[in-house]
Amino acid sequence: MLSVLRKIVQEVSTAPDLDSVLDLIVRRIQQAMKTQVCSIFLFDPVRQRYVLRATQGLNQEAVGKVSLSSTEGIVGQVGQRAEPINLEDASRHPAFHYLKSTGEERFHAFLGVPIIHHRSVLGVLVVQQMEHRRFDESEEAFMVTLSAQLAGIIAHAEATGSVNSEQHPQAKAKPQRDRHFNGVAAASGVAIGTVVVATLAAELETVADKPAKDVQQELDAFKAALESVRDDIRTVSNSLARRLRSDEQALFDVYLRMLDDQALAGEIEERIRAGSWAQGALREVVLTQVRQFNSMEDAYLRERASDIRDLGRRILGYLQESAGPPEVECAEESILVADELSPAMLGLVPEDKLVGLVSVSGSGTSHAAIMARAVGIPTVMGVVDLPFTRLEGRQVIVDGYSGRVYVNPSEQLLEAFREVIREERAVAAGLEGLRDLPAETTDGYRMPLWVNTGLVADVSRSLQRGAEGIGLYRTEIPFMIRDFFPSEHEQLQSYRSQLEAFAPRPVTMRTLDIGGDKALPYFPIEEDNPFLGWRGIRVTLDHPEIFLVQVRAMLRASEGLNNLRIMLPMVTSVHEVEEALRQIDRALSELQDEGYEVQRPLVGVMVEVPAAVYQVRRFARLVDFVSVGSNDLTQYILAVDRNNPRVAGLYAAYHPAVLRALQYIARETRKEGKPVSICGEMAADPGGALLLMAMGYEVLSMNANNLPRVKSAIRGVSLARAQSLLSRVLRMDDAEEIHQYLRQVLKQLGLGQLTRPRLPNQPSG
Ligand code: PEP
Ligand code: MG
Repeated sequence: MLSVLRKIVQEVSTAPDLDSVLDLIVRRIQQAMKTQVCSIFLFDPVRQRYVLRATQGLNQEAVGKVSLSSTEGIVGQVGQRAEPINLEDASRHPAFHYLKSTGEERFHAFLGVPIIHHRSVLGVLVVQQMEHRRFDESEEAFMVTLSAQLAGIIAHAEATGSVNSEQHPQAKAKPQRDRHFNGVAAASGVAIGTVVVATLAAELETVADKPAKDVQQELDAFKAALESVRDDIRTVSNSLARRLRSDEQALFDVYLRMLDDQALAGEIEERIRAGSWAQGALREVVLTQVRQFNSMEDAYLRERASDIRDLGRRILGYLQESAGPPEVECAEESILVADELSPAMLGLVPEDKLVGLVSVSGSGTSHAAIMARAVGIPTVMGVVDLPFTRLEGRQVIVDGYSGRVYVNPSEQLLEAFREVIREERAVAAGLEGLRDLPAETTDGYRMPLWVNTGLVADVSRSLQRGAEGIGLYRTEIPFMIRDFFPSEHEQLQSYRSQLEAFAPRPVTMRTLDIGGDKALPYFPIEEDNPFLGWRGIRVTLDHPEIFLVQVRAMLRASEGLNNLRIMLPMVTSVHEVEEALRQIDRALSELQDEGYEVQRPLVGVMVEVPAAVYQVRRFARLVDFVSVGSNDLTQYILAVDRNNPRVAGLYAAYHPAVLRALQYIARETRKEGKPVSICGEMAADPGGALLLMAMGYEVLSMNANNLPRVKSAIRGVSLARAQSLLSRVLRMDDAEEIHQYLRQVLKQLGLGQLTRPRLPNQPSG
């Protein structure tokens, strides 16, 4: 049964559109279960009805015409209860609703299972038989398993179909329902713009759909790329000729034949002639064939899938080479959409034209999202169902408050969101006046506000916003945008520019924190569980040559300025701290011996894992300061991967367990008389900042963009009020309740403009 299941799922996933997906499902299930009927009803959210969308065994004329409300019939019951209903004789069930045009009166046995995707019922899958019998347990289990696997494919096909059909002029003429795709709100704000899809070099999956500007030119480019690939294969084949037997040598001929007109080339050319650009035609044909081969029973044929993918990549490589660097045509207001957004991709669109970002994978604390917040670009991550390759040139709205992306929005919705943008600008303008004012509560408590940086551009933005220091300089960013480790001298230069720009204010440089979601292209770390693996201090202690060079560069950069603080990420044990301190001291004495006038900087640890929480006093005794990385701490306390969009809803910064840990860290560190600060994203939220201040955090470090909002919140409240807010919040059990309560309190304090604005199309605004 398992292989039948696998085969159906693979075959269905190759179907080109929703109708073919549904059609294949009903045909294959009817065959596999040997039933007389198999049908699919899909829920139409506009009409609030389950519509018969495909059937084998019922009258075909009923497809698309017959529908049931969610309170009608057994199908409605399956949908409403979100569980299977298995009946010996459907007509005797009290909810039975006779659908005349389907001809279903002949069938008695009935099994309906819900199709559920991300907790919402997409539809109902039904099998029926003439005889009176209950489907047995294994049949029911088979249908439930199949339905769970097909749900994602149906959701994706529905999403793609909805985007494609909106291209139709007729669809435009009809009153349009504003369809949105859900993701994770990663950088607040709203943006309206035209999509630019980020295509990765030689990554077929990321090639966008585009029309051919000149069909003949596309055909010529394709033929030339094909010929280059053929030449490459012949060259390899010739060079190995003497070392291979003739039957092994023949494999190269098989490879070459896959490129023939009857195989790949013919189909691709056909698509180009039909108006697609060469790269898009290549993607479509290659990926379809890959899926087809993958679903084959024969292991030898399945293997061919990887050959075809390899050939496809090679052809794409040449096509991209001949096209030169991706010619990105950017509208004045562009939204960059990527399969997996990386910090380096932000450069694909000129800074003055980039208004929004969307990523299919990743989540709010992915590195790209952190950078987006730093530069203040509204961003939605983890939009898993978004058919991103179909969006090039489309107009979208990015709602970075609620994590929604609207594709081809109606004029009415556009106007409503334009109003939000106007309001936001007014609030930002109002906050500008705070630049030179202190972050001081109404009862005179002074709260230092620092910033998190990583890009050179962050520095001037931070100073403009009135930052008093840098609480976290993410040194991995300069490491990420290169092809190999930067030398001591190169590091020295970039560190010096940060230290100089901020002097005499303190600058906290974190030692290299790679691993987890931060990969260096030239130092890949492949692990099943990267967040529980080799990351942060674990990597650098294993590579003293990298650690020492970095620390030396930091120390040399601070010569004469003496505003450097060094911070160690991801520490779990006391011996890691001791070892790192030994290395820092070694670098220091080496430099002093070499004649540099460097002073010992303050050294601190980051508390990011639960083990560090419970040893924080021991750590505090060893170092000069403690800083909490609440982004990681939250993921490790809650066991929720900060990058996984499937569990993004569970990643709750205000979870009571996280708040308790934060309070404990502040209290324990202060018992040792050492300063405690925070540099996770929680400090950037006005409500979160008030709680942290009340807990006793002595410095809040955040992205420069949010600093004025946080300052405004602090200036609008007394420390006593923040403390009573904290004690009330600590008695609450639920993160969402805490979140709502904070919003309410900010409104009562007259700081409602600091919370997210009222948004169109949202029940709670
Ligand atoms: C954190 O984990 O909170 C933190 C500040 O570090 P990063 O987000 O870079 O992992
Ligand atoms: Mg961290």
